[in-house]
Formats: sequence, C-alpha cells, structure tokens
Amino acid sequence: MRSELDNVERLTLVGQMAAGITHEIRNPMAVVRGFLQLMREKSGPELESYYQIVMEELDRANSIINDFLSLAQSRISHKENVLLHEIIDDLSPLLWADANLRGQSVEVKLSSSLPSLDLNVREIKQLILNLGRNGMEAMGPKGVLTLETRTVKDHVELIIRDTGSGISESQREKLFVPFFTTKSQGTGLGLSLCLSIVERHNGTIAVDSEEGKGTVFTISFPAVRSEMSEYVITETKEVSAR
Ligand code: ADP
Ligand code: MG
Repeated sequence: MRSELDNVERLTLVGQMAAGITHEIRNPMAVVRGFLQLMREKSGPELESYYQIVMEELDRANSIINDFLSLAQSRISHKENVLLHEIIDDLSPLLWADANLRGQSVEVKLSSSLPSLDLNVREIKQLILNLGRNGMEAMGPKGVLTLETRTVKDHVELIIRDTGSGISESQREKLFVPFFTTKSQGTGLGLSLCLSIVERHNGTIAVDSEEGKGTVFTISFPAVRSEMSEYVITETKEVSAR
C-alpha cells in the first residue's frame, strides 16, 4: 500500500516535470542551433569559443536527461542489506580526486559501530555524489567536505557538511524544487533526485545552513529492526561480560 502510494506520488512528480524538462532541453537546443549557424561563417578564435559554448550546452542537455531518467525510474528499487561504510569507502577516492582538483579536501568520520541497512547501493552512491558535489561547488579552494555517520536511537545518520557559501533563507525553500538552480551549468535536479532516493528508503533529509559559513545535510535512515536488536544485544553482551 505504502509503495503504491509512493509510485503514484512519483508519477505525479514525473508528470509535472515533463513540462519542465521540455523547456529545459529546448533552451540548450536553441543555443546550439544558433551557434552552429554562426559557426558556418566564422573561423579562428571565435570559432573555438562558439565550439566551447555548443559543447557545454550539449553537456547540459545531457545532464538534464540523465538526472531526469534517474528520477523517472519507477521500477521497484532493489535493496540489499549492506554496510553504509562500504559504500562510503567505495566513493571516497572519487570524492577525494574531485576535491583535490579544486584544492579542497575531504574528511571522513565514520562511527565505530553501525548496523547494516537495507539500501539500494546505486541510489545511495548517487545520493552521496550529488550532495558531495554540491558541497564542493559551494566551496572555494581550501574548503573542507566532511562525511560523517552516527547512530541515533534506531536510526542511522549520514551527515554531509561543507564550509562553503551557505544557503540564504529564501533559497532554502526552493532547494528541492525541480530545476531550481543558481549555477550556470546546473540542472537543478540533483536535490530533487536526492529527496526521492531518501523517500524510497523511508528516510528523511534535513538542511542546516549559515550564509558564509557552510551547509550541513543530514540524512536519517531507519535501521533494519532485526539488525538493530542484534546490534543492541551485542552491546549488552559486552556490558554483562564485565
Ligand atoms: P544544481 O547543483 O544542478 O544547481 P541541485 O538540485 O543539486 O542542482 O541544487 C540546487 C541549488 O541548491 C544549487 O544551485 C545551489 O544554489 C543550492 N545548493 C545545493 N547544495 C548546496 C550547498 N551545499 N551549498 C550551497 N548551496 C547549495
Ligand atoms: Mg547539484
């Protein structure tokens, strides 16, 4: 019942977005067409700069299509019982390389004991990459991106923190609205995608931000019940063994 409702909700979102995507794809297409026409008459450095614009606009259209497809995938998401830390370990080199190119750094603070979770690995990777990249894009050189995990009661929290520009109050309301972006090359679909992934995992996502200081995204996942009792029992055992 619950997943049926989720599907209906997702389809409505996809329907609303179909109108948005038409508009968003037409824009770069119009730019590409215009510049290709101009390019027939040009040569030298001008031709090179037009070529750059055409390539960037095509890349943007491509990103929009990719993000939209991820969002529109309405097939039942396959979850497996996995350790969040393994996913983070897998992604760390990628985030680190990305940050390194920008002169930034990545810190990972993993909780020493964390129960495993029912996760769709591909989606959780997408979630972490999207939030991580947003953080990096909001920071200048020397910025620090922090990935942290912790257990809070029967939930597991994933915290992604940046020391970037922060988000103004007026922008915070629009964060998860499809196509809301403040970046020239942005799609504005990253956070919509993150929200739908978190909802598909019965989790929540919260934002805390201070302008000029940075932003913290906190994602909370419910721990698997059997896992949680095992987790608690292990701890009790340690206590009673003393
Ligand atoms: P995009 O990254 O393509 O712009 P997103 O949906 O990922 O789209 O983000 C939407 C907007 O939210 C961004 O354009 C930016 O203004 C704001 N934003 C998201 N994450 C952060 C962050 N960590 N720090 C500052 N602003 C952010
Ligand atoms: Mg983004």
